[in-house]
Amino acid sequence: MASHDARRVDASDGHAVVVGASIAGLLAGRVLADTFAEVTVLDRDPLPDERIVRRGVPQANHVHALLEPGRVILEDLFPGYGDELREAGGLVIDGSTQLDLYQQGDFLADAEKRLPFYCASRPLFEQITRRRVAGHERITLRGECHVTDYVADGGGAGDSRDGVRVTGVEIAADAGETTLDADLVVDATGRTSRTPDWLRRHGYRAPETETVGVDLAYSTVAVERRPSEAQGYLIVPSPPVTRGGTAVPVEGDRWIVTVFGRHGDHPPGDSEGLKAFAASLPTPEIRDLLEERSWVTDEVRQYPFPASKRRYYEDLGRFPDGLLVTGDAIASFNPIYGQGMSVAALDALALHHALAGGRGDLGPRFFELASETLDVVWQMTVGSDFAYSQTDGEKPRGTDLRNRYLSWVVDAAHADSYVAERFVRVLRLEESPSALLRPGVLWRVAAAAIGR
Ligand SMILES: Cc1cc2nc3c(=O)[nH]c(=O)nc-3n(C[C@H](O)[C@H](O)[C@H](O)COP(=O)(O)OP(=O)(O)OC[C@H]3O[C@@H](n4cnc5c(N)ncnc54)[C@H](O)[C@@H]3O)c2cc1C
Repeated sequence: MASHDARRVDASDGHAVVVGASIAGLLAGRVLADTFAEVTVLDRDPLPDERIVRRGVPQANHVHALLEPGRVILEDLFPGYGDELREAGGLVIDGSTQLDLYQQGDFLADAEKRLPFYCASRPLFEQITRRRVAGHERITLRGECHVTDYVADGGGAGDSRDGVRVTGVEIAADAGETTLDADLVVDATGRTSRTPDWLRRHGYRAPETETVGVDLAYSTVAVERRPSEAQGYLIVPSPPVTRGGTAVPVEGDRWIVTVFGRHGDHPPGDSEGLKAFAASLPTPEIRDLLEERSWVTDEVRQYPFPASKRRYYEDLGRFPDGLLVTGDAIASFNPIYGQGMSVAALDALALHHALAGGRGDLGPRFFELASETLDVVWQMTVGSDFAYSQTDGEKPRGTDLRNRYLSWVVDAAHADSYVAERFVRVLRLEESPSALLRPGVLWRVAAAAIGR
């Protein structure tokens, strides 16, 4: 998708309201401010200018990797984002030589080129993004505003010409219930979005929802890091092994260390159990961090993630005017692949391009554009998950064949820098999976397979 270019979006009238001030809502708010005179981003949580784990985003306790599209779009929307991250103690490391990726029995070779990778806690990513959005002259951020309903005109059943138009939101705030008028409402409320129910209640079809069960759980702590240390680790399990882990250097001279297990192999919530779980991983790096470094947090934070979920809004023939849905509210992915924030950023970019085409029929045009990326990411995620026979859901056609080829790619990437770089760039959502089928990769993968 082409980069953000504010000159492609003209006009500056109307009021847009975004419900949810997490990553997807903040980024949607920023691109809406190119064309709406006024944008209000609401959240039911307080929104202080602090680095906090908000109640509405409990996943913020856990490792959050920012993949390449997220990094690039954040830099485009907020120039100097990386500098600000570094000033706050975040790191920009080489996502190859400084991020050791273990998969299928060995570490991957270093890539030939440098792959910039921002390392920060999720609260820091959110704080910088929130601060930049709050500083925009057309955007107002409002915390402690629980949106209870959309306000709508017209419609019910019938075709799109006499359908419903969303004209605002109902808010339960401290001061009592109020209404906020809007020309456009964007639902960025995450996985638990209630838009599908609302559509049903107003005579529309709800989107088909696909779930792919992985029965995953995370356990996370932070440990001390010497300022000179900037190495990250990612241990990816391959069937039949169900457990893995990661450690990412972040601000505050800490590593955030997360271990995870899928298909019911959940890591424990006590410190000794956590260390024992880490000791069962195939390489010692994460175990050593947990054993040898002081823990900055004494509480082990846990997070269960039962299933990836995708709602196919692009397949709805009719959709109310004045309403959009973005981020996890459309699709939320198995978090071990680190895609959610980057997909939210790609959704914002799709919204920017949809707005460049005017405001008419915005919903269907936006969903169609967003689905182009979602299709690719969804297939990567659930494809990898279906390498496990325990994964629950509809396996996309061709998955077994793709997974067999991918396992050859990984084997070749243990020793071949060129293949390793292509593979890592695909994981980072920087190149399409088809990059792994280019002749230069194919013959190296075949040569490695023959040589074994
Ligand atoms: C354990 C875990 C680890 C993850 N790791 C990564 C990772 O490594 N990399 C990555 O990119 N992504 C990761 N993700 C995904 C990432 O957290 C999300 O994709 C990202 O936050 C974008 O989500 P969102 O903004 O759409 O929704 P959310 O982050 O869920 O935010 C929804 C917001 O809406 C607000 N809200 C909800 N209802 C209302 C209402 N009625 N009124 C007002 N406000 C409301 C909430 O308070 C919240 O602020 C992970 C997720 C989990 C669960």
